[in-house]
Amino acid sequence: MDKGKPAGQQSDGCVGVSLDDYTRLYRALRTLSAGNRTLARASDEATLLHDMCHAIVEQGGYRMAWIGYAEHDEARTIRPMAYAGVEEGIFEVFELSWADDIKHPTALALQSGVPRVGHLVLEDPALAHLHEEQRRRGYVSVSAFPLVIDGEIGGNLSIIAGETDAFGEDEVNVLSELAEDVSFGIAALRARKRQQEAEVALRQLALYDGLTGLPNRALFRTRLEELACQIPRLIRPFAVGIVAIDQFREVNEMLGSRHGNDLLLRAADQLRTFIDGEDLLARVSDDEFALLWLDTDAEHASQRAARLLAAFNEPLPLAELAVDARPRIGIALFPGHGTDAEVLMRRAAVAAREARRTTTHCAIFTGNLDDECARNLALVGDLHRAIAGEQLRLYCQPKIDIASGVPCGAEALVRWVHPEYGLIGPDRFITLAERAGLIAPLTSWVLGAAFRQLYAWQSDGLILPLAINLSARDLLDGRLVDRIRGLFVTWGIDPAHVQFELTESALLEDPSRSLETLSRLKDLGVQLAVDDFGTGFSGLSYLQRLPADSIKIDQSFVGRMLEHEGSDAIVRSTIDLGHDLGLNVVAEGVEDLATWQRLAALHCDVAQGFYISRPLPVEEFAAWRQPEGLGRAVAH
Ligand code: C2E
Ligand code: CA
Ligand code: CA
Repeated sequence: MDKGKPAGQQSDGCVGVSLDDYTRLYRALRTLSAGNRTLARASDEATLLHDMCHAIVEQGGYRMAWIGYAEHDEARTIRPMAYAGVEEGIFEVFELSWADDIKHPTALALQSGVPRVGHLVLEDPALAHLHEEQRRRGYVSVSAFPLVIDGEIGGNLSIIAGETDAFGEDEVNVLSELAEDVSFGIAALRARKRQQEAEVALRQLALYDGLTGLPNRALFRTRLEELACQIPRLIRPFAVGIVAIDQFREVNEMLGSRHGNDLLLRAADQLRTFIDGEDLLARVSDDEFALLWLDTDAEHASQRAARLLAAFNEPLPLAELAVDARPRIGIALFPGHGTDAEVLMRRAAVAAREARRTTTHCAIFTGNLDDECARNLALVGDLHRAIAGEQLRLYCQPKIDIASGVPCGAEALVRWVHPEYGLIGPDRFITLAERAGLIAPLTSWVLGAAFRQLYAWQSDGLILPLAINLSARDLLDGRLVDRIRGLFVTWGIDPAHVQFELTESALLEDPSRSLETLSRLKDLGVQLAVDDFGTGFSGLSYLQRLPADSIKIDQSFVGRMLEHEGSDAIVRSTIDLGHDLGLNVVAEGVEDLATWQRLAALHCDVAQGFYISRPLPVEEFAAWRQPEGLGRAVAH
């Protein structure tokens, strides 16, 4: 036998040769191993099918092999996807259907879901109309295997041999295994493709505004951050403008959201004409756009703003009305008004508020910078004392398992009761603490308070996992893990009852060191969650490398998912993506029953938000009862 070709393959019309059992089994095994090599290499579905058919014919020495997909349409069509070997137009005469009245082995395999073998197809009366065609091509025996893809009959692998006694029991068993491997390969490639598509969609949705197609706040801010990293001696000034369309709300309320959206679309078109080259226009909130004007100093920015405003002098025709859509503009300049993206945007917004009081509708930021610096400095000094003294408070916000409606954990959130300013939220002082090198003592305080709380709950018979937020700097602190290990020993807490939440951006600051701290944390037996998911820019491949157990979808998407199709799509794809990666998915910022119900319908695992409870001082937490109706919502 040359190169494993059985005698029947020598296409001289000499068909009906028999093979011994050993040869049959041997060629099936050879086919299986060639098939597995194909499987391991294939990167897309079409290539997998094509290479698989070729491996079967070329390595296994069969006469023909083909793979079809079974449609679940009325005619039960079989769609041939790939073949190799002697084909010569057989698909033109063959009935490509698996309807009940079709009796060829491929149809029978698809109908029954089990392999079918036709040893003597040339004598099968049900195939009489094909005998001539089959004889011409040297088809003698056929075996057909169903491909079960994701639990459904998805197609067939059919193999044709030129010998009368091909496809004995052992051979069929081996080939069945090959068919199962093919099914598995198809399912895996499809899952991978779905993940890639979800990732692309997610990025697109996370970075662009659904209505205008413009970049959104997150993308705008990233671009500013890149620019803010300019090397000092090469610095080129740029202007950040906030353009507020005040008429939007009024039009929305009086004429309806269709006209409101129309107004925004026209404003966006108009604004686009004031963007050159690498400048950037973004939609940063419902009724605000942001402009980035490169190489623009204060004087130039005023001129550009005046020209822009002049373009809005003509009223816009909307719903048979002439609407005055003149916006107001606030401008902040880099580097004079700040070298940080967040600060520049905040200052441009302050200037836009100022513009309300001007006749030109335009203002450049003039706030007293020294005041703000002085206030922050004083606050940092106070924070030192607050950590050492008794001014920090631990608040907890419950999380609920959506399927059962039962509380499944809580998040620890820190508050500062300032002797002069009263209650200050973490958004105001965490960044300050990070900048002033105070994050380690702050985190130590929170960790201590959280472990004490877990112990107190445990003593009262309440077992509720508590999640603690860590900031970027914490992950770079070599002593963090030892400190946490010490707390477990001191309080005798089960590591399974402690979670740590980390934002994507925290992980990106120094990915390899963060990753190392994370795996050391994970080794303690705790759970890890990626916080504010969707607002960062880490790719899926990075997420896959993290030892994370769950992701928390950022509240900016959850909060708007009912009104905004884009946000709903992000939430939906994030849930699917999370589940594909075997992660638990938490939605934060759930503010009403309707959002809860939508999340339940999307099979989100856990919810957290004001609808369930605001963050509560720990002393009040034990008395908290979940709102009525969460169980009922699940039943819908
Ligand atoms: P986060 O980790 O995303 O925490 C969730 C924030 O969303 C909390 O704000 C919470 O009060 C708020 N929130 C919860 N449910 C809802 C809702 O339904 N609607 C709305 N609009 N908001 C909701 P909070 O307590 O002001 O904390 C802000 C951020 O400060 C936290 O965001 C976290 O990143 C940080 N933070 C809080 N405590 C700590 C801490 O102990 N250490 C560190 N490093 N960061 C902390
Ligand atoms: Ca958090
Ligand atoms: Ca969050």
